[in-house]
Amino acid sequence: MGRITLDKITKKFGDVEVIPPLDLTIEDGEFVVFVGPSGCGKSTLLRLIAGLEDVSGGEIRIDGSDATMVPPAKRGLAMVFQSYALYPHMSVRKNIAFPLRMAGMSPAEQDRRITAAADVLNLTDYLDRRPGQLSGGQRQRVAIGRAIVREPAAFLFDEPLSNLDAALRVGMRLEISELHKRLQTTMIYVTHDQVEAMTMADKIVVLRAGLIEQVGSPLELYRAPRNLFVAGFIGSPK
Ligand code: ADP
Ligand code: MG
Repeated sequence: MGRITLDKITKKFGDVEVIPPLDLTIEDGEFVVFVGPSGCGKSTLLRLIAGLEDVSGGEIRIDGSDATMVPPAKRGLAMVFQSYALYPHMSVRKNIAFPLRMAGMSPAEQDRRITAAADVLNLTDYLDRRPGQLSGGQRQRVAIGRAIVREPAAFLFDEPLSNLDAALRVGMRLEISELHKRLQTTMIYVTHDQVEAMTMADKIVVLRAGLIEQVGSPLELYRAPRNLFVAGFIGSPK
């Protein structure tokens, strides 16, 4: 399960309200893309959902339960960072196993999950290497592997491909879409790249200055952008 409801959540940094009251429902299994210009609050919104930042007001529910005060490790969500955050001195296997070891999972169950994740991500032959011996795309897959083994209710991606060169980005975009088809798990994906949004999303959330300008499928936004800002961002002719 992975239904996430944001009920009038707000975020202030000091006196500055970065997220005014915001409502949004993300359905179980949906691939939702948050898109908008730099500084519009995409990362903040994702970090609020992950619990890496506390909301200033409002409520976050995950599968019907109030998660507003639940610490990040207990929310059942897995964040994939742009910078990979891999441990350079550990093998790929140990990097992927890290959250499971921390959770005290049995070695047999860890192995089962690592084998399954490595298979999905084509990392089986790389499990004994160190991150420094991998390409950028492979490192990104290890970071995703570390999320998969936790079997989260939802994956949260913050511009995961922005460190990759253009060709690799296209490949990884397809891989993440394939992964979503295969796992059918909720994914929330932050990007400022319109093409990523249009090609990957079931539902696009267009943000400007912390406000939702429009929510809809890529086709809906393309055909009926609500205003020039959305039209400009989606690249349609309005
Ligand atoms: P995006 O990811 O869309 O580029 P962010 O969520 O990072 O945007 O930032 C939204 C706004 O919040 C920006 O104005 C940014 O300067 C501000 N902001 C983000 N994090 C903090 C913080 N820890 N302290 C103060 N201001 C912050
Ligand atoms: Mg950001």
